[in-house]
Amino acid sequence: MPLPGKGVGGGLGILGVIIVVVIGACLGGQNPLSGGSGGGFDGFGLEPIPAAPEATQNEAIDDPPDAAGQFVGAVSGDIQRLWTRQFRAAGLEYRPTQIVLFTRSTRGGCGPASAATGPFYCTRDRQIYIDLGFFNQLSQRFGAPGDFAQAYVIAHEYGHHVQNLLGISRRVRESSTRSNQNELSVRTELQADCFAGVWAHSAYQDNLLEPGDIEEGIGAAEAVGDDRIQATTTGRVNPESWTHGSADQRREWFLQGFESGDPNSCDTFSDDI
Ligand SMILES: [Zn+2]
Repeated sequence: MPLPGKGVGGGLGILGVIIVVVIGACLGGQNPLSGGSGGGFDGFGLEPIPAAPEATQNEAIDDPPDAAGQFVGAVSGDIQRLWTRQFRAAGLEYRPTQIVLFTRSTRGGCGPASAATGPFYCTRDRQIYIDLGFFNQLSQRFGAPGDFAQAYVIAHEYGHHVQNLLGISRRVRESSTRSNQNELSVRTELQADCFAGVWAHSAYQDNLLEPGDIEEGIGAAEAVGDDRIQATTTGRVNPESWTHGSADQRREWFLQGFESGDPNSCDTFSDDI
């Protein structure tokens, strides 16, 4: 069944062009400073969380790594098939990447990572890093259980890979200043949420979803909203310090991608977010 909405042909290429132009426009003639706080590290929004509880490691051991690996592999395969199709339709080439599953700690192109880091995408080595204990954390600490909550996390990280391949990550990094870096970060993260929704749309059309799956995805998107995390960790909500967006914003952009199935609808850089 063809995807609804705008023609897919040329779409992704247009998306990239729109983003580049709009980021430039947002700067309003300022000299964009390169660098910023990005450093090639696109986290999932869990950095403010204190060190992971010791239990996480034990739970990871109880949870057979093989099962987790198979699940992550199956979801990754489907996500990458979708983006391969979308890129091809736009006359672009999708370059596959992989998820590095680890326990306790690891070191990659973006330096050391531990269970406390949360899932992230490293723009330097183009790989996704997920601690095996995170999925338990998602269920128990953030109250977002279910396999589709996990799939949403995976699809969000692949969203950052898509941004990297399209040059969006680089443009954001180059355009980031002390005063706009949080806003650009929120816009980047919400776009990754929207891209996750685009995959959810395709999974729905392929009859891969079970009843309740989308609700699990929405629940996970809301659970990792900056306001939710701030409210539970510090008790104070400070929008200016947000880097990933509120629960409402994250739900809305995930749904935007899910309902449209069209990455062109994920232009979080020009839209009012
Ligand atoms: Zn992210």
